[in-house]
Amino acid sequence: MLAAIAARREGANVTLLERNEKLGKKVYITGKGRCNVTNACDPDAFQRNVVKNPRFLFSALSVLPPKALMDLLEEMGCPVMVERGDRVFPRSERASDVTRAFENELRRLGVRVIYNARVKNLLTQGERCIGAELMGGRSFMADAVIVCTGGQSYVSTGSSGDGWKWLEELGHTLYPPRPSLVGLMSGADWVKELQGLALKNVRLTLTRGKKKLYSDIGEMLFTHFGVSGPLVLSASAYAAELVPSEVTISLDLKPGLSSEQLDRRLQRDIDESGKKMLRTLLCGLYPSRLAELMPALCGVDGNKTANDLTREERLRLVENGKGLVIPLAGLCSLNEAIVTRGGVSVKDINPATMESKRISGLYVAGEFLDVDALTGGFNLHIAFCTGYLAGSSAAKGN
Ligand SMILES: Cc1cc2nc3c(=O)[nH]c(=O)nc-3n(C[C@H](O)[C@H](O)[C@H](O)COP(=O)(O)OP(=O)(O)OC[C@H]3O[C@@H](n4cnc5c(N)ncnc54)[C@H](O)[C@@H]3O)c2cc1C
Repeated sequence: MLAAIAARREGANVTLLERNEKLGKKVYITGKGRCNVTNACDPDAFQRNVVKNPRFLFSALSVLPPKALMDLLEEMGCPVMVERGDRVFPRSERASDVTRAFENELRRLGVRVIYNARVKNLLTQGERCIGAELMGGRSFMADAVIVCTGGQSYVSTGSSGDGWKWLEELGHTLYPPRPSLVGLMSGADWVKELQGLALKNVRLTLTRGKKKLYSDIGEMLFTHFGVSGPLVLSASAYAAELVPSEVTISLDLKPGLSSEQLDRRLQRDIDESGKKMLRTLLCGLYPSRLAELMPALCGVDGNKTANDLTREERLRLVENGKGLVIPLAGLCSLNEAIVTRGGVSVKDINPATMESKRISGLYVAGEFLDVDALTGGFNLHIAFCTGYLAGSSAAKGN
């Protein structure tokens, strides 16, 4: 939508081909229906939140930085507000208002939007893209074609990976789609027993061997399949291309205390309430459902009185409190992922224009590019800024 708006504003005649009966089906479900439309951070912070190929976005982010998108949305009748973590939402808190603003602008500019128009193939002549052919045979000839078919998650929204085959056949490198920003599965019974338990202010660390891949403090959630919640989604972005058995997730349940401090706290609790059962005593430290399980996870009898705890057992409790390992079985499915890792190799695309380096007149933008980021409005902004750059470059005939 933004690619079409940018191209039209540069004076091109634009036709937008959408396979669905309406625009923005995925936008509609973003941010739990509120659409976290961008992130109002500075460009450096933005790039730090991009997990795959951040440097590719340099030009697109300078052409349409978050502030410019916010202004554009306001101008198109969708005022926005900034929340915790610089997350930007439409002030109405309705994702549909973002799409409505784009639709109004498309209409105002006279962009032709054709619904139920599923592109089957791109049309080329030599090394130039000259149009697109729909399922059913209708063809559209054009000086430039911008492919923004999205990733391969939440297929019911329309992004089913159609572009993969087209670009591959035209000689581009396509990285296979993988789930990112997705829950992590665990086969451990104790993890499933904790289903529904949310932990706040814990540190989650993802490691591969001795290498720390991700570590942050925040919230997570135990679910019927394993773990989810903000920390887990972010961690999944660093595990997307790895073998689950090679990575480990551990939880520091008391990130504000060092191991020594946690040990002293336990000793103090034992001194004060030594006659309590261990699992009852631990309720002072952890949510009760976790406190019930903690002793067994440390190989200690939770029914023994706290006074009977040996030093070695106490140290095991400390060790697990500072690094409770969650056995991982894998990532949840691609279709459930908030974003798809993989897509067109950025090496095949000119970052200053979004034009293919292999086929002239062919532009690519959005999640179809092998670029993805953490949660916080970054992924939509990637789609917006690359779309905007592709649209204006295509119109200028770059
Ligand atoms: C549940 C959920 C919540 C999310 N929340 C956020 C959030 O709050 N903030 C954020 O930044 N990101 C969020 N994201 C990610 C974000 O929605 C995507 O990264 C973004 O929508 C990608 O935009 P896109 O235009 O590249 O692709 P899409 O939004 O997937 O759009 C692709 C379009 O192409 C059309 N299409 C596909 N194939 C064809 C074809 N052959 N012919 C014609 N049309 C075709 C599709 O119908 C669709 O309209 C969320 C994702 C999900 C799944």
